[in-house]
Amino acid sequence: MNNDVKKLLIEALVDQQEIFGDELFVKKTFDVNPNQFKTAVDASSTKYNANEQSLKVAERIETETGSSLFNEDFMNAGTIAELNSQICECQKCALGKTRTKFVFGVGNPNAHAMLIGEAPGADEDLQGEPFVGRAGKLLNEILKAVNLKREEVYIANILKCRPPGNRDPQSNEMETCTPYLHKQIDLIKPKIILCLGRVAANSLLNKKLSLTDLRNNIYEFNGIKVMATYHPAALLRNPHWKRGCWEDVQKFKKLYDELLEN
Ligand code: SF4
Repeated sequence: MNNDVKKLLIEALVDQQEIFGDELFVKKTFDVNPNQFKTAVDASSTKYNANEQSLKVAERIETETGSSLFNEDFMNAGTIAELNSQICECQKCALGKTRTKFVFGVGNPNAHAMLIGEAPGADEDLQGEPFVGRAGKLLNEILKAVNLKREEVYIANILKCRPPGNRDPQSNEMETCTPYLHKQIDLIKPKIILCLGRVAANSLLNKKLSLTDLRNNIYEFNGIKVMATYHPAALLRNPHWKRGCWEDVQKFKKLYDELLEN
């Protein structure tokens, strides 16, 4: 198998993982040497196992709320701006050394809706703002399609610094960074959260579900409604998922409007 085919196969497996999580559905539609296929699957599994580890750590954090992480000064921040200034120099995990810019979050600090992704990518790392570049542009279009403006909502990530090469967040990084997101949510007090991608949703909800399950249900985090849809970067790779995303954001907007009325 040449490198291009292997790359395509790995991307397809990662995309499957984005939707189905634990379950892998493989339909053999081309001739391939089984040993070479196994190599590609193993390469994808490395990414999957990293997620598993992250989620186990997230579970432990949830049961350990009240640990020293939650007693630090940033927990006393009274505003989003204050929180940003207290944590923007953070070096608590290795990503602090490799980031270009700290990516705190952007939007209305009094927003009724928060959108949460996984971690900054290359464009975000350079500009210090979440969801810029092609994925950000697509997210703006998705919001516009349901009559929401980027400035109306608040957008943040689970991690505030870019994992090198856009790899998945590691357990120690999630463990250290997640309390910052929880504090952001606590200050903004949104009525609804839309998670962009399986990793962000599972991390916030402390679950291990497929994106299909996550998309088909409404969850709660500290009394706040939580929904999930595809990450815009996944939609750029697979435009045929846009229909599903469109249905998700319509449901999200309907619930958003209902929550605002009450
Ligand atoms: S990823 Fe989070 S915990 Fe790690 S250095 Fe950045 S802000 Fe700090």
